[in-house]
Amino acid sequence: MSATVPCPACDAAVPIPADAVVAELLRCRECNTELEIATLDPPTLAEAPTEEEDWGQ
Ligand SMILES: [Zn+2]
Repeated sequence: MSATVPCPACDAAVPIPADAVVAELLRCRECNTELEIATLDPPTLAEAPTEEEDWGQ
C-alpha cells in the first residue's frame, strides 16, 4: 500500500513508502523540508529537527 500525507510545512502531498517505518526521514519535494514519519497508523508527518545532522567534522 502507498499513501500520501500533506506536508506540515506547505501542504503538498508527500508519498509515504510502503515499507516506511516510524522516525524515517523523508524530504518534501515541494518545499524541501526534511520530514520525519511520526506515526504510521494513520501515517502522519512532522518537521524533522534541523540540527540533527550536526555530527562533528
Ligand atoms: Zn512541503
